[in-house]
Amino acid sequence: MATQTVLVINSGSSSIKYQLVDPDSGEPIAKGLIEAIGEDSGHATHTYGEERRELDRVIADHTEGMAIMEEFFSTLGPDLASSHIVAVGHRIVQGGKYFSGPALIDEEVHDKIVDLCPLGPLHNPAHLKGIDAARKIFPDLPHVAVFDTAFFQSLPEEAARYALNREVADTYEIRRYGAHGTSHQFVSGEVTRMLGRDDLKQIVLHLGNGASASAVVNGHAVDTSMGLTPLEGLVMGSRTGDIDPAAVFHLLRQTDMGVDELDDLFNKRSGMKGLTGDNDMRRVHERIAAGDRDAADGFAIYIHRLVSYVGAYTAVMGGLDALTFTAGIGENDAKVREALCERLAFLGVRIDAEANAQRSGEARVISTPDSAVTVLVVPTNEELAIARQAMSLV
Ligand code: AMP
Repeated sequence: MATQTVLVINSGSSSIKYQLVDPDSGEPIAKGLIEAIGEDSGHATHTYGEERRELDRVIADHTEGMAIMEEFFSTLGPDLASSHIVAVGHRIVQGGKYFSGPALIDEEVHDKIVDLCPLGPLHNPAHLKGIDAARKIFPDLPHVAVFDTAFFQSLPEEAARYALNREVADTYEIRRYGAHGTSHQFVSGEVTRMLGRDDLKQIVLHLGNGASASAVVNGHAVDTSMGLTPLEGLVMGSRTGDIDPAAVFHLLRQTDMGVDELDDLFNKRSGMKGLTGDNDMRRVHERIAAGDRDAADGFAIYIHRLVSYVGAYTAVMGGLDALTFTAGIGENDAKVREALCERLAFLGVRIDAEANAQRSGEARVISTPDSAVTVLVVPTNEELAIARQAMSLV
């Protein structure tokens, strides 16, 4: 058993994802998911070593969900009392302008996360439910908030500020906060370690259901594609990414859709799902192979946006040393990597077809020795990154 562990909690509006992590080895010791909280029928799973248990029952709220987690640990293991937990790490999406690193959750930090709810309406209220429930169950442990926006507090003003009326922007705190920062920080750090160099101009492409790009110079983020919220930037599973905001004005004027319906349309019924009918890239490839026109168009739009961002960030940084793919699509989808890298041949990007096609859970270089840019696949591990950040405060 590890000498110190961290319980990492990622609480959504109707779910709690948890993992008991050994921050030294990076190994997940046990993990689970409580789903459909507050719905007609809830579902929970817990995995510890070879053991896995599932449970179906109504789960009224996050407090009950957290109690199920505790029950899983005491019946299936590992026993939490002897697991040497030193902290509970909570993933928080919106840290606004307040947080440039992890924070011990005291009343002041809790109040700030509450204050940030209008800026993160889809996430922060759900995180607070998770924090409140976890603090009831573990009142004696330090609880640490790890913010998805923190890594991007270093963005220079010209990247963080929109050209929106200054007074309005400042009054309503509208600026680029970014998201997925824990992943971008972890992955760019791994690249620095793998290449043995600190002075790197890097682009990290986090391509999962949510997708974001970041430009990182010497370990510091200088630009990122997500903005005020995780809606901006790349084409995602079900989010539009970049779109002229006048589309919102137009739809408000021309249809009877209200703000909440538009929010739903842009966040949940657009992106690859809205373009092709499928938000899973594996299905998109199957449909392209079967001759589906919408799927082929959707894929072309997806790649076009990636090319634009890589081009823009290379220009912003004045060069590019390392291009790294991570998350569900970035780690597993050789076709996306190949399609993008082919378009980047003008930058001297060359990937090794065999290395690209190889399926592996390991971090690896997929470019050829003569490529002007090192291209890598690095599995992200947000739970481990959260665990290590939480550890750094206790
Ligand atoms: P994430 O949000 O990082 O968990 O990524 C989820 C997405 O990864 C899914 O919606 C799929 O589109 C994609 N994905 C997962 N596995 C594969 C795979 N083997 N090939 C292509 N895409 C994949």
